[in-house]
Amino acid sequence: MRNVAILGATGSIGASVLDVIARHPDRFRASVLAAHRKVDELVALCLRFKPDLAVIADAALETALRDKLVAAGLATRAAAGMQALNDAASGELCDSVVAAIVGAAGLESTLAAARAGKRLLLANKESVVMAGPLLLDAVHAGGGELIPVDSEHNAIFQCLPGGRPDLAAAGVRRILLTASGGPFRGKKRADLAAITPDQACAHPKWNMGRKISVDSATLMNKGLEVIEAHWLFGATPMQIEVVVHPQSLVHSLVEYADGSVLAQLGNPDMRTALAHALAWPERIDAGVAPLDLVKSGALQFEAPDRDTFRCLDLAYRALVEGGTAPTVLNAANEVAVGAFLEGSLPFLAIAELIEATLDAISAEPVAGIEHLVHVDLTARNVAQRKMRQEFC
Ligand code: NAD
Ligand code: MG
Repeated sequence: MRNVAILGATGSIGASVLDVIARHPDRFRASVLAAHRKVDELVALCLRFKPDLAVIADAALETALRDKLVAAGLATRAAAGMQALNDAASGELCDSVVAAIVGAAGLESTLAAARAGKRLLLANKESVVMAGPLLLDAVHAGGGELIPVDSEHNAIFQCLPGGRPDLAAAGVRRILLTASGGPFRGKKRADLAAITPDQACAHPKWNMGRKISVDSATLMNKGLEVIEAHWLFGATPMQIEVVVHPQSLVHSLVEYADGSVLAQLGNPDMRTALAHALAWPERIDAGVAPLDLVKSGALQFEAPDRDTFRCLDLAYRALVEGGTAPTVLNAANEVAVGAFLEGSLPFLAIAELIEATLDAISAEPVAGIEHLVHVDLTARNVAQRKMRQEFC
């Protein structure tokens, strides 16, 4: 029996992984459920899954959570605050951790799980973008496993021999990262000036949280994923190519020296990657409908429109600059997307604000986690200031 902690249990990834866990009560148990502020949703999940521990990240909500768990007649213990989240991710109540918090807020708990040697099911791509080498070191030191659940990286993991091999020794020439193209594929900059948050969040293929939905609309999601692929698989920026594939059935591909190209296909449903990562190296039912290739028709592939969707090149730029540049990129993106979702920044200004923030802060070698947390905060302040001065 695997005891699984789900950090971000009330989110889209949280719902998908709980659905897979519920299908296999003989193999998996949701032993820890954690969320940000939605106490009622968290308690409802506790009623269904009966975890040992529920954690609410907002410390002010501890009493509310405890009272509601007691009122519901549950034996689930309550804890609150970021330290409680880190303790839960590294503690004895779980052997696997689903890192499904959105944004930099997930960094510390992801690192805590890695250091403690858990099986880390990594959805929180922002933590690997911010702190890739530190996260890999933590996984190594902890002696656990990192299994990517971002669908593209899970696909690449499946197409590589043995997870994270030496790419040159394995004969890998390139990684082809597929992108759906998002809701605005085919549009030009002039079409995007007055985009609303709801339009940006209406993804044609995936039903996801609002932050990653906006990232998909700007192509920053793919940019973050290029950086994620660099760290997870040791591929150079030149070895990672983005290909737009609107059907979202081919989740990514690996090209080998002999000309073979291996792909992983499946319906666009995160439960496949989550079931793979939960049960690896075994395979289990994920509740996902079988792929019907005849019904799905032609598969298209095209180059990304890098002039319209400038965030992709900004991410390559940060990756090539190296050091703290990806942390700055991620922080500026979080500020920009947050402001766009609140209605205070136009869609096209997201890329401009990120570029201005990257221009303002020179990349430095990473000195450690405190350094990265400091750079993250500085970049957020710079982005906020530039937003007020130049973009609002
Ligand atoms: P979501 O917005 O639906 O859910 C986010 C979860 O994180 C919620 O449970 C929320 O309570 C929690 N959370 C938010 N801020 C927090 C904080 N400060 N402290 C503690 N918890 C906090 O997001 P999502 O779509 O499920 O995405 C989660 C992560 O997975 C993101 O990093 C995203 O990029 C990644 N991801 C998602 C998908 C997808 O299909 N949804 C696919 C690939 C990767
Ligand atoms: Mg993805």
